[in-house]
Amino acid sequence: MTRLLLIGPPGAGKGTQAALLSQHFGIPAISTGDIFRYNVKNQTPLGVEAKGFMDRGEYVPDSLTNSLVRDRLSHDDALGGFLLDGYPRTIDQVHELDSILSDAGKRLDVVVQLTADSEELVRRLAHRAEVEGRADDTPDVIRRRLEVYESQTAPLIDVYAARGLVAMIDGLGEIADVTARIVEALDARGLTKDA
Ligand code: AMP
Repeated sequence: MTRLLLIGPPGAGKGTQAALLSQHFGIPAISTGDIFRYNVKNQTPLGVEAKGFMDRGEYVPDSLTNSLVRDRLSHDDALGGFLLDGYPRTIDQVHELDSILSDAGKRLDVVVQLTADSEELVRRLAHRAEVEGRADDTPDVIRRRLEVYESQTAPLIDVYAARGLVAMIDGLGEIADVTARIVEALDARGLTKDA
């Protein structure tokens, strides 16, 4: 049973690695960004509330994000393990996740921190803007998202490091190589496919 988080700046490759790790470990990859985008696309009440924040590169308020995650983690497929991609992103969300897990008598196994230098991030995000056409991949919004990550989310690494949970992984290079680095780091922590 593996419960892991993927933390890293926009463009670090979280979504790509999340999909591969989800397959490797047989656990659902839960991306709050994907859930928000789905809701925006379908113009649900949640999507209507979230859209303005997302378009500006700001975080959706914790109250909305936390209740979405609490609900999603209660689904059957997440009971045996999960990978959270892009959550938690604020200290308040860390506390909420702690409370969700302790209510269920569970704990986190590992926090994978994906790193990449800012030049590479901007290059990847600009490329993604061409390929996927995401509304929040314009230069101004990209800059804002990187700032928001630095001020609100980067500090979470220290919180989890103090708990001995962080595996820092270099996110540069070929996708398969990055996956191999993550799997190796998780193996070293005794987290194998069958664990
Ligand atoms: P992502 O695809 O993870 O980069 O997320 C895209 C956007 O969705 C972010 O820029 C935020 O506006 C919103 N979002 C995703 N996850 C969260 C979260 N955990 N807390 C607040 N906002 C989020």
